[in-house]
Amino acid sequence: MRKAWVLAGVALLAAACTDRKSPLAPTAIAAPTPPLVTPPLPTTVPGVLALALPIDGPDFATTAFGIAPFGFHGPGDATEGHPGWDIEYRAGSFVRAAAAGTVLSVLEDSTGRFIVQLEHVVGSHFYRTIYTSLTTVNADIIEAAEVRAGQALGTPGTLGTPGTPGTHFQLDDLEFHREGPDPKAVTPESFLTPAAKSLFDALWARATFAQELVEPFATNPRTLSFPASRTWTRAGGDGPAGVRFTRRRLEVAEYEYELLAESGTVIERGAVAINVTNRPYPLIALTSPTAVRLGLYDIISNEMRLSLSNPGSPRANDLTNASVYRTSR
Ligand SMILES: [Zn+2]
Repeated sequence: MRKAWVLAGVALLAAACTDRKSPLAPTAIAAPTPPLVTPPLPTTVPGVLALALPIDGPDFATTAFGIAPFGFHGPGDATEGHPGWDIEYRAGSFVRAAAAGTVLSVLEDSTGRFIVQLEHVVGSHFYRTIYTSLTTVNADIIEAAEVRAGQALGTPGTLGTPGTPGTHFQLDDLEFHREGPDPKAVTPESFLTPAAKSLFDALWARATFAQELVEPFATNPRTLSFPASRTWTRAGGDGPAGVRFTRRRLEVAEYEYELLAESGTVIERGAVAINVTNRPYPLIALTSPTAVRLGLYDIISNEMRLSLSNPGSPRANDLTNASVYRTSR
């Protein structure tokens, strides 16, 4: 069972405010967004599975997180990295088979919810898809039954805290091996059909999770050492030239920040508070010993929009005048 996110609360902020301006001059033009490179296939063995998503687009929900990505270090997978995608569903919708295959097993977990595992054979290459936390399993989903891609498997049960309907969706490539828990798990991202990738990109754009300041991608490495840092470089707008976020501890998605000058010099550092369930955009507050900056942000893979107030000024209402920051794998 995977509990894959943590909701970071907005800490109480109390610090002296100054009237200092943003430390750097504006840059007006953002370069075009560089294309995101899909990670290479995890194996060179022929026989690549064509994968759909286990959800119909209209059934997607973002009450809590939307999608919790592969490899990120959430509380349930802090040590080894998350071995699949957690996907949030609209109540009353169905978890669906991501590819045609055969039911390997229907298991009940310790909380009375169900785990469905399907086997998929492509040539001589074997895969397994796993769907956890189902409240009910459809009557025709029994061991050895054939299923078609998109067939309803059951209803999503409560995932995480606070509970929201969802499933942990995992793809195991039986030719792949990694030491540690879930040794066969590979990212589903590399296997998506073009239609599924389009749908995924649309859903992913709406996902937010507390770990994305350092692990922003739909596919992150399962191994990460702490402290873990990620630098975001300004591509447009009038914010600082760079922002570096550092997560010191494995267990909790607590961050420190550093604002960077063009030269890379740190011009301000302090603590970060975020509230990722705020809609439409998560809240962020940067607190240094002398200033509090209130903001909103939105991260979609390698790009962050960040609207940050000057010390003493109120939080922006939206991301209209946000600065654009980019990072790379
Ligand atoms: Zn999960």
